[in-house]
Amino acid sequence: MRNLVLFGPPGAGKGTQSAFLVDHYNLVHLSTGDVFRFNIKGGTELGNLAKSYMDKGQLVPDGVTISMLEAEVDKHKDANGFIFDGFPRTEAQAKALDVFLEKRGDEIEAMLALEVDEEELKKRLLARAETSGRSDDADPEVIQKRINVYNVETAPVADFYKAAGKFKAIDGHGSVEDITNRLVEAIG
Ligand code: ADP
Repeated sequence: MRNLVLFGPPGAGKGTQSAFLVDHYNLVHLSTGDVFRFNIKGGTELGNLAKSYMDKGQLVPDGVTISMLEAEVDKHKDANGFIFDGFPRTEAQAKALDVFLEKRGDEIEAMLALEVDEEELKKRLLARAETSGRSDDADPEVIQKRINVYNVETAPVADFYKAAGKFKAIDGHGSVEDITNRLVEAIG
């Protein structure tokens, strides 16, 4: 199995790049943000809970996020591998993912970290708000909060994969195609 973590701050291009990578490597795309939004649309209990955090730019608590992610992985018994997009976002999530995959005789192959400067992120998120209908993209205060949460709670997750020799930094500036090419080269 080829399991990749696509990492990076909000607006780094994780979703955009995932769309290409899943086709190219025949993988299943698992975006925790997408699953939460699907649940919000469906008005589920999980959706209502997630919304209360997402609207404020905060992380959804680890317990629910980890259980949800594991249930999603279990839905794809025949997968060739996964692209984890937006997960893990905390060290507890990273550890839980390792334990979970190990039980299945599996592991993360690499973390691909898209690096984009803060001004560019803000521009991209505000532009995305025009078409995404995402309220968390339309409000500059919520955007700033998400970037701050990323810097404090999520960025340290990279150290976890660095220590395991699985971390690869990718320049996330430039055209979508340029960035895709860098990712493919890094995946090898
Ligand atoms: P972005 O990367 O642009 O912030 P996402 O769709 O990945 O977009 O995430 C949107 C929101 O969903 C986050 O701000 C957070 O509230 C919640 N979320 C997504 N993934 C996780 C996660 N792994 N742990 C906790 N909260 C998450």
